[in-house]
Amino acid sequence: MATALQAVRGMNDVLPDEAALWEYFEDTTRDVFRRYGYRNLRVPIVEPTPLFVRAIGEVTDVVEKEMYTFADKLNGDSLTLRPEATAGIVRAAIEHNLTYDRPQRVWLAGPMFRHERPQKGRYRQFHQFDVEALGFPGPDVDAEQMVMLARLWRELDLADGIRLEINSIGDPAERKSHRAALVEHFSRHADALDEDSKRRLHTNPLRILDSKNPAMQPLTAAAPKLIDRLGEASRAHFEDLQSLLTEHGLAYTINPRLVRGLDYYNRTVFEFVTDRLGAQGTVAGGGRYDGLFEQLGGKPTPACGFGMGIERMILLLQDARRGAGSVPLAYVVHAGDAAAKLARAAAEALRDAGHGVVVNAGGGSFKSQMKRADASGARYALIIGDNEAAAGTVAVKPLRGGDEQTEVPAGQIAARIRELLTLTKDDDGLV
Ligand code: ATP
Ligand code: MG
Repeated sequence: MATALQAVRGMNDVLPDEAALWEYFEDTTRDVFRRYGYRNLRVPIVEPTPLFVRAIGEVTDVVEKEMYTFADKLNGDSLTLRPEATAGIVRAAIEHNLTYDRPQRVWLAGPMFRHERPQKGRYRQFHQFDVEALGFPGPDVDAEQMVMLARLWRELDLADGIRLEINSIGDPAERKSHRAALVEHFSRHADALDEDSKRRLHTNPLRILDSKNPAMQPLTAAAPKLIDRLGEASRAHFEDLQSLLTEHGLAYTINPRLVRGLDYYNRTVFEFVTDRLGAQGTVAGGGRYDGLFEQLGGKPTPACGFGMGIERMILLLQDARRGAGSVPLAYVVHAGDAAAKLARAAAEALRDAGHGVVVNAGGGSFKSQMKRADASGARYALIIGDNEAAAGTVAVKPLRGGDEQTEVPAGQIAARIRELLTLTKDDDGLV
């Protein structure tokens, strides 16, 4: 037998049992975004390498170590699998003059690629929902995006496990003066710096604040804070953002060390974090990037956006055992040709009423079919044997406790199920 090949390390298959939860999460998310006027947009997974280098910044973990970059075999062009979505979206917006007559709210979903050390909540191919408000100076849209995410956590019933942290990293001039203060601070403690930080001391000292190395924490905690050096306009922006969040009743903490891992951000940065995923605690993060359009050759266009890691959200949902939405309501067990025909008709009638129904396929004894019904997670088994087929009826057997088995004429199955559901209305999301 030939040796079986395996998936690339850090790149996962999502099998149907788990994919059901992905669909539930994706459907819920898309619906929330729609209600805020965000529209879908799709861009390629492969982009020219210089796009990411220019957007994300040369001295960042992503560009220095994590990109999947390769030469196009035909012409030698350097190409990269996208490590994040904003750069490609801004490229597309410039290329198609998307914001020429009005600003745009857009979202994208899909795979991103980063060569990181795989662990729980961190993979080499992972998936994001990415949201961008292009052409808005804020802070209203900054707040809108946080409010929108908070709504999503509520609708997923995860609000108690996720909290919001915000910061302002000011404008370029403010960052320049802060940078000088940072170099001063870290130079004084040069012995305590790890390798990465030493290298970044003179190239990109802000990145030192983003270090994940616990040994660096005391030093970064004591570092000068950008938030103390904001100019008039940045300060006003940050204060307005906070009043908007308060108006919406959204709780937040200011984390002066929150800087984000990509260079294009300015002013507002934010993260939604959880304590339930160990070190991979950020489920969504973003901020404002008012200079990125110009940096990529476009006209000045203020903008704000965020990325949300889908795998981390799935882990949270699994942890909370939520989202059984794609479990069928009923599983139809049948034996014989007449029964099979009745089974198909009953199932179609229930599907007309919006319910998920699985009809047993591939035969099997009554016992083995009932086993499959149980394993499907369905709430009801609909049983059609010889007697039922002859009488044109369906036996409805609750599989999750509750009522006795009852029999109804096949034509009334949808009505009976509706009746049963109103009688046993509980919120286990199985309908
Ligand atoms: P982290 O600090 O965890 O490395 P990041 O700051 O690099 O995250 P962003 O570039 O802001 O992350 O991406 C937005 C979101 O995408 C993250 O908050 C996280 O939920 C998710 N994400 C980022 N990298 C990975 C990864 N390697 N595997 C799974 N999800 C990821
Ligand atoms: Mg990272």
